[in-house]
Amino acid sequence: MTPLLLTHPACLEHVPGGDHPERPARLAAALRGAQAAGLTPDTSALPATRADLVRVHDAALVDALLAAAGRHHAVDPETLMSPGTVDAMLHAAGVALEATRRLLAGDARRVLALVRPPGHHAERDRALGFCFVNHVAVAAAEARRLGAARVAVVDVDAHFGNGTQHIFHADPTVLCVDLHEDALFPEGGDLDDRGRGPGHGFTINLPLLGAGDATYAALVDQLVAPAIRAFRPDILLISLGFDAHRADPLANLELSSAGYGHLLGRLAALADEVAGGRLLALLEGGYDLAALETATRAVARALAAPAPAAAPPAPAFTRRCADALAALAAGIAREAP
Ligand SMILES: [Zn+2]
Repeated sequence: MTPLLLTHPACLEHVPGGDHPERPARLAAALRGAQAAGLTPDTSALPATRADLVRVHDAALVDALLAAAGRHHAVDPETLMSPGTVDAMLHAAGVALEATRRLLAGDARRVLALVRPPGHHAERDRALGFCFVNHVAVAAAEARRLGAARVAVVDVDAHFGNGTQHIFHADPTVLCVDLHEDALFPEGGDLDDRGRGPGHGFTINLPLLGAGDATYAALVDQLVAPAIRAFRPDILLISLGFDAHRADPLANLELSSAGYGHLLGRLAALADEVAGGRLLALLEGGYDLAALETATRAVARALAAPAPAAAPPAPAFTRRCADALAALAAGIAREAP
């Protein structure tokens, strides 16, 4: 199976400048990795519209961002707009929308979307942390609009995906699972934050310290997979940040490039099992260029391969932990809309 590779050249035109780590060379490196795995970029996606964005963002934020098109503007000292930023963000969101539409129409089964700027820190009312609009949230809302009853989002970026989680915090139709480095950036993402109101129980935070390939594999097999099986999503969206790579300069996690490949292989197998194979992996962070290239190549190869067999349970979890995980999955199964 050849996964679909979506990207757009406008995503290179967001240039925060100076020595900002979120630089155009990141996307070029990821694309080299995907092409080395045999994927051919499709750049046909149209930009997102204002109407697409206001499904998950306040109109005031969207209008303020659109008004900054063509000029430099500092949202905060780290979140910097250049003359090409608005075009880049609209095309990045447009790629996320195109991927979602093709997956739900049955025109693609696995999509790798390589875009920038990243999106998962963008809140409903605020740009933050190198992010302007939240592409994975835009994709989740589009999936719901097109008839998906339930959408699961798994965020593997090293940073807590605050924006995505908060946008769907009270929404029981979007399960948000977030694996991130504990106490990195931004605040939040605590283990005991399980969502609010009708969305309580549909948020899962896994704050980690120094976790590597084996820990990620065990968490996905023993916690993420049972939760997603219980939830029965129609589509699986992955916020694919490569800054959990051991080479990344902004975080302290220990995934290898091969580990990213195994992780996405497991998630693709899960999508095959419960979501009709519909999986979208959307680039978020990742700031070491060599790691971006090799990890993207590993992910592209994993998505092109048949699903791996389920791994045997890891022995690291105690009985009490296993019981808690079973209760969590049973609760999600009972309450999923
Ligand atoms: Zn990140």
